[in-house]
Amino acid sequence: MTIGIIGAGLTGLTLGNLIEDCELLEKSDECGGLCRSLSEDGFTFDYSGSHIIFSRDKEVLNFLLGQLGTNVVRCRRNTKILYKGNYVKYPFENGLSELPLYDKLDCLTSFIAASVSHKRSKSKSKSNAENFKEWLYNTFGRGIAERYLIPYNEKIWKYDIAEMSTSWVDGRVPRPPIRDVLKSALGITTEGYKHQLNFYYPKAGGINALIRAMERKCSSKILKGFDVRTISRENNKWVVSNGEERREYDTIIATQPLFSLFRALNHAHMHIPAHVHEAVRRLKYNSLITVMLGLDVEYLNDLSWLYIPDSDCLPHRVAFPSNYSKEVAPPGKSSLIAEITYNSGDAIDAMTDKELITRTIRDLHRRGIIEKDSVCFARVKRTNPAYVICDLDYERNMYQIRTFLNKAGIYTAGRFAEFRYLNMDACVRNAMDLATKFNDVN
Ligand SMILES: Cc1cc2nc3c(=O)[nH]c(=O)nc-3n(C[C@H](O)[C@H](O)[C@H](O)COP(=O)(O)OP(=O)(O)OC[C@H]3O[C@@H](n4cnc5c(N)ncnc54)[C@H](O)[C@@H]3O)c2cc1C
Repeated sequence: MTIGIIGAGLTGLTLGNLIEDCELLEKSDECGGLCRSLSEDGFTFDYSGSHIIFSRDKEVLNFLLGQLGTNVVRCRRNTKILYKGNYVKYPFENGLSELPLYDKLDCLTSFIAASVSHKRSKSKSKSNAENFKEWLYNTFGRGIAERYLIPYNEKIWKYDIAEMSTSWVDGRVPRPPIRDVLKSALGITTEGYKHQLNFYYPKAGGINALIRAMERKCSSKILKGFDVRTISRENNKWVVSNGEERREYDTIIATQPLFSLFRALNHAHMHIPAHVHEAVRRLKYNSLITVMLGLDVEYLNDLSWLYIPDSDCLPHRVAFPSNYSKEVAPPGKSSLIAEITYNSGDAIDAMTDKELITRTIRDLHRRGIIEKDSVCFARVKRTNPAYVICDLDYERNMYQIRTFLNKAGIYTAGRFAEFRYLNMDACVRNAMDLATKFNDVN
């Protein structure tokens, strides 16, 4: 059985490594999708946002680390939230002792009140929340929600969080045990989101080193620069074309974004019911700008990354890759990646690269994160799409889309093909499971 895999990002390459009889079609001249890195003037940046390797899934973690061999460093997370000029330990509820006294008291009392009321409503088997905003209030209490979680989430999602569902939060938004919050408010060290407390990163080459290692092992199966424009069904085969060349497969696995998959089916005049078209059209996502800065300072700070909830600061998160591995910056220099989400056509989207760089440097300088005169390298990249947004219609839309694809016999795997908030480990897990299924059939 010949299997055609569309897209050679992390998901496609995992499939390519694990399925024997397959071919990968990649639109770009470079594999990696969201896991690509820019290397210039001695700096290496993950240009679709800082990427770290972590997982609860031991098999997946071993698979990923196995690809890197000795080209890997292990780091301990040292992440903060910049709140009222204070560097508060991440997750916020594990850093309450670092807050001013009144903020600490308010966060603690409202957290306890929310926990008690959550327990009561659970015992009456009432649903915890109707939307994400309500869920934040119910889970963390007003103090933590209004000081950090609501402003930060509004900033990163660029979407009304009262219109977002809660279906994605499990495993994404750390939920602390009450005892840990009490301890942290009293100044006893606690850690949250523990499966990410230690993480891995390629020693050299940025996250793309992982891709290059995987690509080397299946390079003979990859056709690069093949933009899949049409997908049709002819004589019991899938026929995939870029407008010039046709490839035939028994089975296809789509790892490219759903929008691109449906465009290709549509161009081939495949019958897609109107309600499925409408469901695809209604899916929500946002996009990402990264401003990558090289700094002429040997020691900038000891942070892994920093969350900035303030609405008057352009980036929502700043990562410090040269603190993961010294080899991603030239000797004596350091680096950061400022992440800024946007929606197509909004005011941020309209900013030029020069404006984005100037504004980012100004905002970070004002907060004492960098000295503006220390910037010696600056580049901007845009990633579209970046984050899946689970709005209140998300489950219904996805049900219709999945039902259609299942009936058509099209498999999907990966972040934007499944249209789920998947990190690298979940993409690899889903690809591994699909590969097992196909290898068992053969
Ligand atoms: C800002 C940000 C930070 C992240 N940080 C982390 C992190 O720290 N840790 C972590 O584990 N995960 C992280 N992730 C998630 C991670 O990037 C993804 O889970 C993973 O890279 C998705 O891989 P994929 O192969 O499914 O999709 P993609 O990387 O999107 O790959 C899809 C591929 O399909 C190709 N393609 C598209 N259209 C076509 C077409 N018409 N024909 C042929 N090919 C096509 C694309 O060029 C691309 O190569 C982050 C994501 C973002 C956005």
